[in-house]
Amino acid sequence: MYNLIDGKKLAQEMREEIRLGVEEFTKKNGREIGLAVVLVGQDPASQVYVRNKIKACAEVGIKSYAKYLSAESTQAEVEGLVKELSSDKNIDGILVQLPLPKHLDADKILRLIPTDKDVDGFSEENTGKLSMNEDCLVACTPNGVMKMLERYGIEIKGKKAVVIGRSNIVGKPMAMLLLNADATVTVCHSKTRDLKEECLRADILVSAIGKSKFVTADMVKEGAVVIDVGMNRDENGKLCGDVDFENVKDKCSYITPVPGGVGPMTITMLMYNTLQSALRRKI
Ligand code: NAP
Repeated sequence: MYNLIDGKKLAQEMREEIRLGVEEFTKKNGREIGLAVVLVGQDPASQVYVRNKIKACAEVGIKSYAKYLSAESTQAEVEGLVKELSSDKNIDGILVQLPLPKHLDADKILRLIPTDKDVDGFSEENTGKLSMNEDCLVACTPNGVMKMLERYGIEIKGKKAVVIGRSNIVGKPMAMLLLNADATVTVCHSKTRDLKEECLRADILVSAIGKSKFVTADMVKEGAVVIDVGMNRDENGKLCGDVDFENVKDKCSYITPVPGGVGPMTITMLMYNTLQSALRRKI
């Protein structure tokens, strides 16, 4: 019988802990914690993400600064805003919602975010520190996965972990976190030969590909922990993960559902990182 990892419940519990941490910070330092969220343009999915982030801030007592720029904004205008937010003492975290309109140089804009306000954990310094196993702000989605494993008492040390996907925002930091936690890690991608064989070796299998029902039962070892990061739409437009949940679940010791798994943890970890950032800045 498999155990379901309830990301929604865990996210709720963590938000309450973060709320208490924010309250304590405010009392002690006499100021609010601030998170700036920059949205350029009107991409509908990005609008939903931004709205949810602002809602989460309100829930935990973080003051949000929503900055909306038109899709036609110039590179200089976006850079100007990020620079302004960077020097604003009231702001502990800056998040630029991706993707940015194509005419903008996203890398150049993201590089302007100071390391100590990089609550997405995407900066070169934070990713470098992560790879050196040093204290840093860690990308929210993989960090959320680590919290799930930790809170469910799933041992990582010495285990074989396989991560499918090598993006800078999920796959790579996920692999690094598992490695730092003493797993033996294999990273798979679209050019991996014998993906099924690699997956069958996994005690912990994390899928971050973006393809519905890609991970099938014949790819999963009996008793494995399966973490599904994917957020896709099935043939009926319903939200689903990368894992063929119905057929895979009975082989697992633990499995995350989609929705209600990794997704709710991501925004929670953004709140967590914003609190961490405020605590580190000591202002
Ligand atoms: P991405 O940048 O598109 O990366 C996808 C990765 O999957 C790439 O490394 C790619 O390999 C690999 N891949 C694609 N097809 C494959 C195949 N047939 N076999 C093996 N590997 C394959 O995506 P991402 O940003 O990492 O996101 C991955 C998924 O996670 C998406 O569904 C996204 O929506 C979801 N996501 C969810 C959350 C959340 O909060 N739950 C947050 C972020 C992302 P190559 O490098 O060789 O191309």
